[in-house]
Amino acid sequence: MRLAEIGEFGLIDRIAARTGKPGHIRIGIGDDAAGIVPTPGYLTLVTTDMLLEGVHFDLTWHEPLLLGRKALAVNLSDLAAMGAEPRWFLLSLASPPELPVEFLDQLVTGMLERATEFGVALAGGDTCASQGGLTISITLGGEQLPERTVRRHGARPGDLVVVTGELGEAALGLELLRRGERYEQAVSRHLDPTPRAREGVALAAAGLPTAMIDISDGLLADLGHILTESGVGAEIDQAQLPLSGGFAERCAAAGCDPVRLALAGGEDYELLFTIAPDRLALALETLREQGSQGTLIGRVTADRRLTVRRHDGREHPVDRCGFNHFAPSGNRTP
Ligand code: ADP
Ligand code: MG
Repeated sequence: MRLAEIGEFGLIDRIAARTGKPGHIRIGIGDDAAGIVPTPGYLTLVTTDMLLEGVHFDLTWHEPLLLGRKALAVNLSDLAAMGAEPRWFLLSLASPPELPVEFLDQLVTGMLERATEFGVALAGGDTCASQGGLTISITLGGEQLPERTVRRHGARPGDLVVVTGELGEAALGLELLRRGERYEQAVSRHLDPTPRAREGVALAAAGLPTAMIDISDGLLADLGHILTESGVGAEIDQAQLPLSGGFAERCAAAGCDPVRLALAGGEDYELLFTIAPDRLALALETLREQGSQGTLIGRVTADRRLTVRRHDGREHPVDRCGFNHFAPSGNRTP
């Protein structure tokens, strides 16, 4: 069955039938606007992310269930970076009329899987026909106390730089997908990223990070945003970058540079934060309690440059943009 056969309202009915309505959603799907009950004293944090066919995903690789999971995951990751607890989301779909209803059902299934896992409710959305490809836009709302909300601008000289999880797998996964390989944990890291949602909230609730961001464009590029907003620089120690077991070997087999993927590969969806040195142990313990690891990878400097200390001890200055400009040969200056 094609979407054209059930129409806009047929699709909305299918989605609505699968959506729960927890107490904080006073008005859900079916009215002209959703009504959310805020927690008194909390700030509402709202983020939105759009996924476009041909730009952000390729239907030859992305099966609908994983695409639905990823669409919500990338939004959860943004909210996590602010330390906000996710609560509700809106789903806007622009879909070609010939798309099978089964595809959209699977997409919604994946999305609702992640929603249930992280306690978020679908509160509404918009649906229309697309003359081009599929577009999925999600707006996610959450809450945090104003004084616990973490921003990009709080990093201070002397703070430490910490990252959750492991770096580079998603970028290796994408590289392998481009070559037509589907096997590899790296592939699943690209197709089905895990947002560090609970980790972000736990760190923020304990008042630990001075600045935080999620890594979507690559470690250097995203760290660059914190540094710019905070008016500081940083030194990153290449030897400390958290890489998964066997990552270097898998990169070598694929002809990729593991350090480049870890520093400049995108879509890790890990959290990157700065923290006062005397709070580091508590932050690492907080992450462990959430089943995650944190790794100290560098420190914040008053000098506004961003440098990477290589294995040979040489300091390598990098461009803030990181992604395009990081020279693996190590001879480029900013
Ligand atoms: P309007 O014409 O006033 O914009 P719609 O017909 O677009 O209203 O939407 C009807 C109801 O269905 C609204 O409550 C809206 O939030 C909900 N809705 C529409 N599309 C979606 C979707 N893709 N996912 C969830 N809810 C949706
Ligand atoms: Mg509408």
